[in-house]
Amino acid sequence: MQQMHAFTHDRWSFPLPPTNHFPQQKYRLVRERVERVPGIDVLEGAPITWDDALLVHEAEWVRRIRHGLLTRREEAALGLTWSPELAQRTLYATGSTVAATRAALSHGVAAALGGGTHHAHRAVGRGYCLINDVAVSLALIRLDGFIGKCLILDLDVHQGDGNADCFATDPDVVVASIHGEQNYPFVRVPSDIDIDVPDRTGDDDYLALLDGVLNDLDRHTPFDLAFLLCGADPWEGDRLGRLSLTVPGLEERDRRAITWVRDRGIPLVVTLAGGYGEPIETTADIQARSVTLAAERG
Ligand SMILES: [Zn+2]
Repeated sequence: MQQMHAFTHDRWSFPLPPTNHFPQQKYRLVRERVERVPGIDVLEGAPITWDDALLVHEAEWVRRIRHGLLTRREEAALGLTWSPELAQRTLYATGSTVAATRAALSHGVAAALGGGTHHAHRAVGRGYCLINDVAVSLALIRLDGFIGKCLILDLDVHQGDGNADCFATDPDVVVASIHGEQNYPFVRVPSDIDIDVPDRTGDDDYLALLDGVLNDLDRHTPFDLAFLLCGADPWEGDRLGRLSLTVPGLEERDRRAITWVRDRGIPLVVTLAGGYGEPIETTADIQARSVTLAAERG
């Protein structure tokens, strides 16, 4: 069996005040778990350039995150304080998804051990997301010559408003998001398919909703590429999510989504998106399992 490539950026860290709960250590914990899985090669992707970011984002936003010109209000919306290290890490993190996308097109399946920055809009970032990794990846592979239809299946507990914004007028991208009804973002941009899931929904009801979305997506096939955002934040122990999925329930979620994509022969890029569990080690276990399932399915 061919090795699956998984791209990490976790050695690029940035300063966080002690009061900030962004789980930076998660990326290292996931990488350490994935490195132990036979059949997966963990690599580091090259960073994108600021010009690459301009393929998607408005010049003013790119200038502000490049040069540290964010207002306090913009930093509050991001949930992060700007630093040169944060800007650099963002370029590497996005580069991991770009590398995974190219690897998926060559080998069928690949993963970014990060990514899924689905709250980054064209003109502004928020919710821990500065640059939209999926949008930049798609823009770059289109420059490489990719033409075709793309699916973004977003299973993070938060609605993917940034993806909806970036692809609002793109007829070749279908954005589907299954998310907590009462979760952030409270001002949304509509996707092609949006499923609001009530608070405390458990495995069976959630999986039935997922099956419904997958059935709907069959009306949109064939796809030539799929991005899967395997957020671990629908887990019952997540600090930010309001759903009640168990660890086996999340594994079944990923199995169904990955099987649906790969049974149709669609190249698959797995990204992690969010996950803020207590303890964070369980979140890392869930996210490493998402990546492992993709490798096992091949
Ligand atoms: Zn999330």
